[in-house]
Amino acid sequence: MTNNNYVSGNDVATFVLETTAPYNILDFDQGLCTMTGYSPRELSKKICTLDNLLYVEDFAEVIASINYQLSISNLVSIQHRIVTKSGSVLTVLCNGQAFSLNDGRDVLQCVFTDITNLESAASETAKAKTDLEIFANTVPSGVSKHLLDNNLTLTWANNYFYDMCGYTPKEYKKKYGKNTLPIVLSEDLAIVIDALADLTEDSNSTIVNFRIKCSDDSIKWVNAIFARAGEMEDGFPVVNLVMSDITNLKIAEMKAMLEEQKYLIISDISEELPYEYDIAEDIITFAEKFNHIFEGESIIYNPKENMIASALVSYDTKDAIEELFYLAKLGTEYHSTEFKLNTKNGGYQWYFSTFSTIYDEEGTPIRVIGLLRNIHSQKIEQQKLLTKAETDLMTGLLNKATTESKIQSNLRELNGNSYNVLMLVDIDDFKNINDSYGHLKGDEVIIDIANALMEYTDDYDLAGRLGGDEFCVYFTNLLDTTVASEKADLIANKLREKYPGNNGDCKVTLSIGIAATNEQIPYSVLLENADTALYQAKLNGKNCHYCYEEAMERGKYENKRKSDKDIESTEDKIITELLTILFGSSNTYSAIEKSLKIIGDSYDIDKISIWEYGYNTSFVDCTHQWCGNGINNDKHIFQHTPAAVFEELDAMGTDGIVYSSDTSLIKLNYASMNPESMGVKKLIQSQIILNGKNIGYISFYSMNSGSTWSASTLSTYKLLFKILSEAVCSKQNQKTLSLLR
Ligand code: GH3
Ligand code: MG
Repeated sequence: MTNNNYVSGNDVATFVLETTAPYNILDFDQGLCTMTGYSPRELSKKICTLDNLLYVEDFAEVIASINYQLSISNLVSIQHRIVTKSGSVLTVLCNGQAFSLNDGRDVLQCVFTDITNLESAASETAKAKTDLEIFANTVPSGVSKHLLDNNLTLTWANNYFYDMCGYTPKEYKKKYGKNTLPIVLSEDLAIVIDALADLTEDSNSTIVNFRIKCSDDSIKWVNAIFARAGEMEDGFPVVNLVMSDITNLKIAEMKAMLEEQKYLIISDISEELPYEYDIAEDIITFAEKFNHIFEGESIIYNPKENMIASALVSYDTKDAIEELFYLAKLGTEYHSTEFKLNTKNGGYQWYFSTFSTIYDEEGTPIRVIGLLRNIHSQKIEQQKLLTKAETDLMTGLLNKATTESKIQSNLRELNGNSYNVLMLVDIDDFKNINDSYGHLKGDEVIIDIANALMEYTDDYDLAGRLGGDEFCVYFTNLLDTTVASEKADLIANKLREKYPGNNGDCKVTLSIGIAATNEQIPYSVLLENADTALYQAKLNGKNCHYCYEEAMERGKYENKRKSDKDIESTEDKIITELLTILFGSSNTYSAIEKSLKIIGDSYDIDKISIWEYGYNTSFVDCTHQWCGNGINNDKHIFQHTPAAVFEELDAMGTDGIVYSSDTSLIKLNYASMNPESMGVKKLIQSQIILNGKNIGYISFYSMNSGSTWSASTLSTYKLLFKILSEAVCSKQNQKTLSLLR
């Protein structure tokens, strides 16, 4: 046998070994020299037995193993260690075949394969496995390996897997063996089985939450990740499971869900609708209930524009919404407002909104949390009450106080550009309408006038009833008084058409005064101006309208108006007194003289004259005269005044009464007598009619250019004419009777 007969290489050595003690190495190849570091000589002479080559601790085991293996077959395979010349230890795999030599000795032909590196690699793998396990045991999750079979058989698990269930590995094994599914709460078993069924080769992982039963009967929520490992064991796919305890998370989640449900229930049963506005993103999110009440999405981007554009917000309250988002972006802490939102039912509802703002650590506003509360019925009730408080019940127009305050606040907005115009409307001789047709008819007329005012005024104008038969309309933003004048005509025409006074029916005419301003004057001044214009209309025969001018002597007129009441209240007393004097006395002449003094002293009259025609009617004589100052007593001058002067006056009169505040008119009538020199500024004159024949005149004068006789003053004078005229007639009758006698 030569060395060359054996396969040799760095990691392989071949040799022949005697199988009986002392286990001589009978032959060897170069491979054994290379592997062990001994020279062939050393191997032959020194290391000639197996024990010199083997790692001492392995010797007995190797000999026992050889003997055992050879007792079964002629093949031997042992892994053991050898010691090289340098003292290093190699792991070798020794494969041998037994046969007998010609001389009868039993030998083994052996091949050593150096597997030292392989072995260290294996121990590295083992070490790595240990590291993985150590790692797996440090993570707070159960990490386990299972077979994807009916029991989800547990093949390996880290400590935490067992901890999570509350068992030691031993206890677990005792209770469940290698089964995994029994730890799953029966209610959740279907979820887990479904999840496992999802694990196919294509979709090899799945996540599922379920509950497990612990040793102390408590229940834990786990988040489980099942992943197919790609290998098979016992014919089943291997599944890795990572399980985390999410019990606390679940409790928090359920609490939050409960809170959310509570909040939903509360928001559902209450009138309130919560909302959240993300300032940076500019998104508003309303609670779910939003969809039950309103059209559209409950999440609205760019809400300041979109809530208006989508007509969610009623256009007339858009300012409130714009302000809300403006203030929210500005970081206003709290805000509340009211606006109208269009609902699914097609109508709008009033909502009250209140919000508070949430800031980040730097104080930047990030979120606004708000509530919408339906205040519709409350608001409507409020509006009804307000309207009721502001309205004149009979006509539906604004009442006096509201008209005044509304006009006052409108006046405050004037800036010299446009005009605001006040139009005062008063029914002519309304007392007569009441007297002749009854109060119900009077009421009807009042309501018709109110309707006409409303018909001819726009929404932004104000129409009010200032009292009794006096109304007003307030126009804003006009260029001048033209529109108001036109409307005055339209309103008056409407009433004239409805009450033309045909065939003894009720006749209704209106006197209207108009005043305008483009400056912030007080209401009282504007009212006074319109009032002055109104009385100008009354004084000029009623049934017409006047626009206020400075020349209308506002101040003095006002005083006159104020005294109207006094005149009315003392009127009855004076008249009773006059009637007693005139008709209770036997001397009518002196009774007339006495009455003139009472009348002159009581009213705004400077001079009273009574003229009576003479027999041939071509002259008129002044038969009675009273003068306030005594100076203007010119009775004696007016004897035999040409009748033509009075005839001229007759031609102008209505119902035998002439009133003039125009001295030029007086000049015309008294040209021949130079009235200006007599200081006469105003005159009212009436005929004295006896048996259908004009028998004379009564005249009341004012010497004061500033004074104005108001409508009620003039109506008082008319009554005085009547009384005086009766007295003159009765005197005339007495004369006639005495003449006859
Ligand atoms: P003038 O042309 O000067 O305005 O005369 P007039 O009779 O209209 O003036 P005056 O102011 O003296 O009379 C108004 C009357 O209106 C007095 C009052 O009896 C009557 N009146 C006030 N309120 C009502 C009401 O609600 N219904 C009715 N039918 N009459 C009313
Ligand atoms: Mg009136």
